[in-house]
Amino acid sequence: MSSPPDTREALVIGAGLSGSAVAHSLAVRGWAVTVLDQAPGVGAGASGLPAGLAAPHVSPDDNVLSRITRAGVQATLQRAQALLHSGTDWALSGVLEHNLAGKRRLPATCADQHSTPASPAQIAAAGLPQGTPALWHAQAGWIRPRQLVAAQLQTPGVQVRWGQQVQGIARRGDAWAVTDAQGQTLGQAPWLVVACAFDSLALLQPLPGFAVPLNPLRGQVSFGHMADLTEGQRQLLPPFPVNGHGSFISGVPTPEGPPGWFIGSTFERNCEQAPVREEDHAANQVRLATLLPALGEAMAGQFGPDLVQGWAGLRCTLPNRLPAVGPIDRARLPGLCLSTGMGARGISLAVLCGELTAAWLNHEPLPLPESLAKHLAAERFVRA
Ligand SMILES: Cc1cc2nc3c(=O)[nH]c(=O)nc-3n(C[C@H](O)[C@H](O)[C@H](O)COP(=O)(O)OP(=O)(O)OC[C@H]3O[C@@H](n4cnc5c(N)ncnc54)[C@H](O)[C@@H]3O)c2cc1C
Repeated sequence: MSSPPDTREALVIGAGLSGSAVAHSLAVRGWAVTVLDQAPGVGAGASGLPAGLAAPHVSPDDNVLSRITRAGVQATLQRAQALLHSGTDWALSGVLEHNLAGKRRLPATCADQHSTPASPAQIAAAGLPQGTPALWHAQAGWIRPRQLVAAQLQTPGVQVRWGQQVQGIARRGDAWAVTDAQGQTLGQAPWLVVACAFDSLALLQPLPGFAVPLNPLRGQVSFGHMADLTEGQRQLLPPFPVNGHGSFISGVPTPEGPPGWFIGSTFERNCEQAPVREEDHAANQVRLATLLPALGEAMAGQFGPDLVQGWAGLRCTLPNRLPAVGPIDRARLPGLCLSTGMGARGISLAVLCGELTAAWLNHEPLPLPESLAKHLAAERFVRA
């Protein structure tokens, strides 16, 4: 097959965190980008999550995942700073990690000055007993993914077409064409980026040699309104998000607008649908009681069916917890790229993955060392 022509024109399938990040990164480099999504508007997939965390992973040997998430969180926070409103869309709040199993250890020679043992004052502010093992991530915070998606899609040079369900992908001459269920052409471009999470598998599986092992992982977050909390419950709320066994965030707008509290999330493998389930609220209640025991006890009454709300979505995962990004197989599928498999870290990784894809397509220096970029490359799955 011939290489794609040097035309700076791309189609992106999927308008979640992954697709909108790729579209933004290409458009700011002067590309004309069309994004197609089957949904009527922003937030249909996992990126409809009401609120989540951008926080680094740490490990004693500062492993590949730790180094990549640190770079990813930095990229996301910079993007949020540039495009979003602090306080309503996101906040650089810092995140306290309750080190429950004691397995999250900082590297001995700390490459990252932003993650440190939590101070006694921070542990007290979280309402945890002194001596609780905990880390403090200063370069971390909460984000409302929908706001980031919407802002990235507004980049000049990005055109979004909603209500476009892609069912087929085929090479036509020097271009990739995408079609709907009736075989009608929805779009055509020399470069095609597939960013539709687990649905990417059904679209790409028929192509020769495609072997990226994508899996669905359902999750549910439970949330409620701050206005429904008693004064006593409010006094126990930590002034920053806490993660560890799941994560707890408070004081962040709910999808309806008024500020709320959020605890998540459940993990359910081999489930391709994402209904909200009563039993998942119970699991999240246990999660809160483990993460922040005093608050969990005080808030037990907030999980009743008249107060608690739920949101569920499908994460798309890969076995090593790292996404699959960029060209899929330059020799056999020229011009075809992927940006998916963000797993439980799309907020922390999608912006970096968008920049990486754009750098590859635009023949630029990569935004992270080659030794790390190769662990994200979709091409790592090419069969010999
Ligand atoms: C409960 C839960 C909690 C989470 N918490 C966090 C967190 O705290 N921090 C964090 O970093 N991450 C978190 N995540 C993960 C994060 O939400 C995801 O990694 C991220 O949203 C994935 O973005 P995406 O763009 O790859 O996929 P999606 O947001 O799922 O977007 C895929 C898009 O593709 C479209 N699409 C699908 N098929 C087609 C088709 N055939 N044609 C056209 N369009 C199509 C869909 O409509 C959708 O808009 C959480 C996820 C869940 C479920």
